[in-house]
Amino acid sequence: MTEKCIFCEIANGRIPSVRVYEDADFIAFMDINPTSDGHLLLITRSHYKTTSEVPDKQLAKALPLAKKLALAAQLGVGSEGYNILINNGPVSGQLVEHWHLHIIPRKDKSEFPMKAGQPADLTKLPFIAASIRDNL
Ligand code: 5GP
Ligand code: ZN
Repeated sequence: MTEKCIFCEIANGRIPSVRVYEDADFIAFMDINPTSDGHLLLITRSHYKTTSEVPDKQLAKALPLAKKLALAAQLGVGSEGYNILINNGPVSGQLVEHWHLHIIPRKDKSEFPMKAGQPADLTKLPFIAASIRDNL
């Protein structure tokens, strides 16, 4: 894709990365600014912005691969669990607009990054669900 995409540059080797895995469709490498020891990024070799753009055939391979990498990361760094996270779009916190899946080994619950939710408004919930169902 464009020379401006840092993950395309990593995929084509123009920007170095510490790789742990690669195949015809995917590359996994160490995050340069890790949330925890062993934080990995799994990217598609091709440039897709979000999960919505990635072909289903590749997505079907992505989760088994993430599972394999997460188990290896967990054993590698001695963590007890992990987060698998995909940010989709800037409003979700996606900074690099090339599809990537985070694998973040977790040793300590206090590291957990997500804000606790608030109790749902039960009068609104069915309408929100309906608006989602209508778009399936
Ligand atoms: P996002 O917020 O887009 O889901 O996360 C992007 C991730 O990419 C961040 O965790 C960030 O540390 C990582 N990252 C950004 N630039 C580079 C880079 O040049 N090399 C590596 N290895 N990771 C990067
Ligand atoms: Zn790209």
